[in-house]
Amino acid sequence: MRLSHIARIAAVAAAMVLTATACGEQANLGSSAAPAPSVAQGVSFPAGTTMARLNEAGTLRVGTKFDQPLFGLRGLDGNPVGFDVEIAKIIAGKLGIPADGVTYTETPTRIREDTIANNQVDVVVATYTINAARKERVSFAGPYYVAGQDLMVASGNTTITGPDSLRAANARVCSVSGSTPAKNIEKYVDPANIVLFDVYSKCADALRNGQVEAVTTDNVILLGLVDSSQGAFKLVGQQFTEEPYGVGIAKGDVAFCQFINQTLQEAAADGSYQAAWAATAGKVQPEAPTLPPADACS
Ligand code: GLU
Repeated sequence: MRLSHIARIAAVAAAMVLTATACGEQANLGSSAAPAPSVAQGVSFPAGTTMARLNEAGTLRVGTKFDQPLFGLRGLDGNPVGFDVEIAKIIAGKLGIPADGVTYTETPTRIREDTIANNQVDVVVATYTINAARKERVSFAGPYYVAGQDLMVASGNTTITGPDSLRAANARVCSVSGSTPAKNIEKYVDPANIVLFDVYSKCADALRNGQVEAVTTDNVILLGLVDSSQGAFKLVGQQFTEEPYGVGIAKGDVAFCQFINQTLQEAAADGSYQAAWAATAGKVQPEAPTLPPADACS
């Protein structure tokens, strides 16, 4: 049973490679169908700003997730695809940087502040909830989306119906260290039943293997994992927090924050924000979100 499943996966993978070869060397299995964001030509920015420096360099270093379908998932060409990646490309475009000037670094949940503070990336766009504790080390532009925490369980599970059902079910619940969902779930589950990994794909593996009964994080992250589970998982569908996603930047860079907020507003007005959604998360959740009002930059 298991072997035949593995054989099927291998056959599909082989077919994908064959298709790629048939399409020639330019085949790019990892790319999304998102239209390339427009690239500002001949723009100039006030001297000394982050925008001027990045425009001059022609490169934007982006921290994002590599294992989260719909938001940031590394494709076979090595580059990630997803809504977060498209947001990063829109920002790059307004800086006069084309998509091939964007470089990606994997930033799992717990290392995001460090990666910004150590100047390893210029922005982190990585399902990154804006909150006060994080604002002590980094600044945020946005929000550009508001998610909410939910639960994912095996599709046959009928006992877990929301966070309040977890204790009675004696459920082991998986999340990621340093995440807001890992913290929020503490009031619903005994500490011994909370299992933490560094990335959500490991939680999905643990659920598949029966090592935990539930995975908790933002609904849209779980939707991506459900979508790629071939029917094995389902979303419980009881959102119990609000998770406003921001673009993490160096602490105190108010001008860069304002520039990103302006960029997001223009993208919502010209349709590129909605197109980015449609090409990524929109495949599972068709209705495009409305850009939330920006927070004040600080
Ligand atoms: N949005 C939540 C957070 O920033 C969960 C998603 C994640 O771990 O990236 O902690």
